[in-house]
Amino acid sequence: MCMRALVIVLALVAGTTAAAQRLRALEPLDATGRIPYFIADGEPRSDFRPSDRDLAVWALTDWERSTGGAIRFVPTAEDEALVRVYWVPADAGQYGEMRSIAVAGRRGAAVFIRPDVSVLGEIGRLAQTDPLLRETIVYLTCVHELGHALGLEHTADFRDIMYFFGYGGDIPAFFDRYRSQLTQRGDISGVSGLSAADAARLNALYAR
Ligand SMILES: [Zn+2]
Repeated sequence: MCMRALVIVLALVAGTTAAAQRLRALEPLDATGRIPYFIADGEPRSDFRPSDRDLAVWALTDWERSTGGAIRFVPTAEDEALVRVYWVPADAGQYGEMRSIAVAGRRGAAVFIRPDVSVLGEIGRLAQTDPLLRETIVYLTCVHELGHALGLEHTADFRDIMYFFGYGGDIPAFFDRYRSQLTQRGDISGVSGLSAADAARLNALYAR
């Protein structure tokens, strides 16, 4: 959910120009599709809550489930993880960010989530009186940035979790269509944030 994302995501991949850089899929470690991940503790002043770990795990599970087993996330130590999730302080209205990293010669990804949604304008104000909206924003940000981690780029289709907010549209409605499916926090584990097209793109990357 990178409002500034196209530049940031691609500019931080070293070596080539942003225009030429394309994301690549992660390479699972073995034939079972195993992808090691690590979720950090929140940084000071990030407004991280320990329960936010659930949101990151559920987001990983959402993508994993959509492949029908072609990929499988397994927890591991930070320095061995191909996917790493960090919780960082708010920054100028940005929801999150993904940076490609090298892990023992393979493409990995560091995902930065900004759980302090209070700075996000209208949607942030609405979240202050609706705890499930706050959870929705952090959860969908995890899903979106993890989509980049897996190799997915932005789309221009408002229905997709990989939609780029730079195209405009009703951002509160983007979150509310998910929020409206929840009656309690635990529902997030079973309500997918993906569109059919998001899942199809991931499956195209990880078909085996
Ligand atoms: Zn993005």
